[in-house]
Amino acid sequence: MRIGQGIDAHAFKDGGTLVLGGVIIPHPRSLEAHSDGDVVLHALCDALLGAAGLGDIGQHFPSGDPAWRDVDSRILLRRTIAMVLDEGCKLENADITVVAQEPRLNPFIGAMREYLSSDLRVSADRINIKATTTEQLGFIGRGEGIAAFAVVLLDD
Ligand code: MG
Repeated sequence: MRIGQGIDAHAFKDGGTLVLGGVIIPHPRSLEAHSDGDVVLHALCDALLGAAGLGDIGQHFPSGDPAWRDVDSRILLRRTIAMVLDEGCKLENADITVVAQEPRLNPFIGAMREYLSSDLRVSADRINIKATTTEQLGFIGRGEGIAAFAVVLLDD
């Protein structure tokens, strides 16, 4: 067994499209990023790469590379799981926590799970996604950005 963890955070900006876990979430603000800013998928990619001993997301998809400008992060996730499977590792499960003061994410968790289960080629019961706030504390609590934490277990 191999375990991996990943963390990502991005700042809010006015306008744009908020995408979390591949799901477009209606909100007046989106996340500042070179890509689509999907912190959930970025944290998950880093956890997968970490567990497989394959480095990190910035190494495989450098933010300075125009190829990844505004990229749909589900493409990065599919490429990441392909690299992990190539290493002979199988995903047992993933557990993800999204930390956001706003917007309310619970209505979108089911759709995120479906996308992740399809991209990672595992059943949805292997993917768990939780959303929490920080009770107004810190940069997340002030509504300045969103963070995500992911843990995965691989079987090699
Ligand atoms: Mg990121």
